[in-house]
Amino acid sequence: MKEIILLKDGEIALKGLNRYSFEDTMIKNAKRRLSSLGRFRFYKAQSTIYIEPMEEGLDMEEAVERLKKVFGIAAICRTCVAEKNWEDICRLAPVYLKDTLEEASTFKVTAKRSDKKFPLNSPQICNELGGLLLSRFPHLRVDVKNPDVIVTVEIRDYAAYIHAGQLPGPGGMPVGSSGRAMLLLSGGIDSPVAGYMMAKRGLELSAVHFVSPPYTSDRAKLKVIQLAHLMTPYCGNINLHIVNLTKIQERMLDKCPEDLFTILLRRFMMDIAQRLSLKESSSALITGESLAQVASQTVYAIACTDAMVQQPVFRPLIGMDKEEIIRIARSIGTFETSILPYEDCCTVFTPKHPKTKPTLQMVLEAETLLPEREELIAEALEAVETVKVTMSGAAGYIE
Ligand code: ATP
Ligand code: MG
Repeated sequence: MKEIILLKDGEIALKGLNRYSFEDTMIKNAKRRLSSLGRFRFYKAQSTIYIEPMEEGLDMEEAVERLKKVFGIAAICRTCVAEKNWEDICRLAPVYLKDTLEEASTFKVTAKRSDKKFPLNSPQICNELGGLLLSRFPHLRVDVKNPDVIVTVEIRDYAAYIHAGQLPGPGGMPVGSSGRAMLLLSGGIDSPVAGYMMAKRGLELSAVHFVSPPYTSDRAKLKVIQLAHLMTPYCGNINLHIVNLTKIQERMLDKCPEDLFTILLRRFMMDIAQRLSLKESSSALITGESLAQVASQTVYAIACTDAMVQQPVFRPLIGMDKEEIIRIARSIGTFETSILPYEDCCTVFTPKHPKTKPTLQMVLEAETLLPEREELIAEALEAVETVKVTMSGAAGYIE
């Protein structure tokens, strides 16, 4: 018995002539996610993407789990392939659907016939197959309004497909179809969620994480590499740049007003992130900021950080409550790692009374106290460590 997976796309289908390039990006992403499971063949026909296993014993359940995280896919359907004749459909349906139907109490049959030359019409298919399944599984009842299982028969160009309905895909746009952006990834709850949300709109991600050793530890850095790793089933590979801010922070502590420390630090971060972004042909920055969550996320503070950079800054969490953010973090599997209690460079030297209403003028004046700003940034960029994080790990850290 041959089993394959059908994918249907959602929003992409509305893209007119560009549809095919979006689909190709989605197929490329899906291929990559399945490649470590074995050989699959992908092809398109009748606005459906077909994924056919090319080896015996491939893990179809895991394949479906992985596809549930590939943005752009609207629905996923695991289905049995039958010859396009009534005998073969009747032979395979009870065998293929045995476990599902044994667990169900009610069912109905629906039929889709894109080949109108098939000898039975849709109501006939439903009646005949419904009767056959009732005789084989006598505990079942037909319920056309709210059945436990909808048995579907699709008569297409070259074959018939029998399945028990489709699963929702993750929706969104294929990663890479919207270009690339640089995520400021901390070890917290918010920034992985922000990255996930923008990847869902088709952005491929690079990431930057700022450390401040010895005030921040190796395990804090490892935690962030782990977070990036947890994002890869959704976002694909991530080039994670690790930038050392120790000298910049010590210098600021020495020379700048304490109550502006956080906002000055955030401007350094944005500045460095944008330089890395430009180097990677990435067109925007992404942060996990949420309005009023902390002192550095007031509208005044955000105005000062934004003024540092020219690239657009995407803040998908800006209007969300922590509870909503946590719900997403849990569902994508980053929450448990995010709450490990390790240091972040933002929490070393935090001022006791940070200014919640800084003005750009105040901030620019404070920055004149650091005339060596350019050299400090150049030095930090010189020493960047870049870790390539993939679904299978991160060389040197997660094997
Ligand atoms: P998160 O939960 O993402 O850490 P947060 O609520 O702790 O966010 P802040 O510490 O003010 O907020 O950081 C706001 C945003 O700045 C983060 O979402 C992230 O995008 C960026 N950021 C903060 N610290 C770092 C860091 N060490 N490296 C990279 N980006 C950072
Ligand atoms: Mg944080």
